[in-house]
Amino acid sequence: MIIDLRSDTVTKPTKGMLEAMWSAQVGDDVFGEDPTVNALEQKLVGMFGMEAGLFCPSGTMTNQIAIKLHTGPHKEVICHKYSHIYLYEAGGIMANAHASVKLLEGAYGKITAKDIAENLSPDDVHACETTLVSLENTMNKGGGSIYSLEEVKPIKTLCDKHHVKLHLDGARLFNALVVTGEDPKEWGAQFDTISICLSKGLGCPIGSVLLGNKTEIKRARKIRKSFGGGMRQAGYLAAAAIYALDYHVDRLAEDHARAKAIGQMLEKHPLVSEVFPVLTNIVIARLQGISPEDFLSKLSAKGIKAVKFGKDQIRFVTHLDFRDEMLEAFEDRVKEI
Ligand SMILES: *Cc1c(COP(=O)(O)O)cnc(C)c1O
Repeated sequence: MIIDLRSDTVTKPTKGMLEAMWSAQVGDDVFGEDPTVNALEQKLVGMFGMEAGLFCPSGTMTNQIAIKLHTGPHKEVICHKYSHIYLYEAGGIMANAHASVKLLEGAYGKITAKDIAENLSPDDVHACETTLVSLENTMNKGGGSIYSLEEVKPIKTLCDKHHVKLHLDGARLFNALVVTGEDPKEWGAQFDTISICLSKGLGCPIGSVLLGNKTEIKRARKIRKSFGGGMRQAGYLAAAAIYALDYHVDRLAEDHARAKAIGQMLEKHPLVSEVFPVLTNIVIARLQGISPEDFLSKLSAKGIKAVKFGKDQIRFVTHLDFRDEMLEAFEDRVKEI
């Protein structure tokens, strides 16, 4: 039995999801005529209390569209130096929006209103004016850390005061909301745009949705087209997403419990010096006396897959296809290393 904890993107659609996809009503979404895509966009719009939504193939595309909406040449986005938009989107901030980026530091991948206030670039002839702040929740490289609404509200107030837009890379926002119990509408009220991934913990084969106001999502639709992301009978994919929103949100708590158990096991391991606090489905362990490459190859010999995540760190992510019997096997195998 191979235990694949490289990412929560490795899941395959469940039987119920496949049935939902099979029976979807579809049309040409570039003409706006796919009823299932429209229903998915409206479902998330309703949940978050925002005005409009746009279904895209990936979270990279929804983030990149948002950055292009809110920045441009001679403009700057502020984000944490561990942000997905900066580290893992192939230089898209520069390549797509021609914008500059200012990277901030902060524990577990999070930034504060104070850090941002000290780093806003003015609309001055010498400067690259800040027009966007981007947060990530949960924060992948921070070990699945969570922003609370109380941390976000002062950032929103600051951004409003300076006419700076606020974007949320909410690839794993539902993981955070399942832990905090906060109302998605409260989150919708804090941000100009929110990107939500359906292909992570929610278990869809593909897809992300960008939420925002009507004017910006209308522009986003054109940017999506220019990125080559205008899809036709995409309702088969949107049907998987609607199914996931109905059946795969509450169960994220199971992924979190299994991730906590993995964190506790690793903390006791002699080759692990530190485990980041495990709040959601991501476990980051710092190694001692062994390189990530060597530790990963020992895991791989035991049928366990994880990834290197920094010079002395590895990452495990729990998901829909990681079940309790695998957790038991994980414990037995890791003890032997
Ligand atoms: C996965 C992920 C994305 C989007 O990735 P895609 O693979 O392009 O869908 C964006 N942000 C974070 C934090 C992610 O983990």
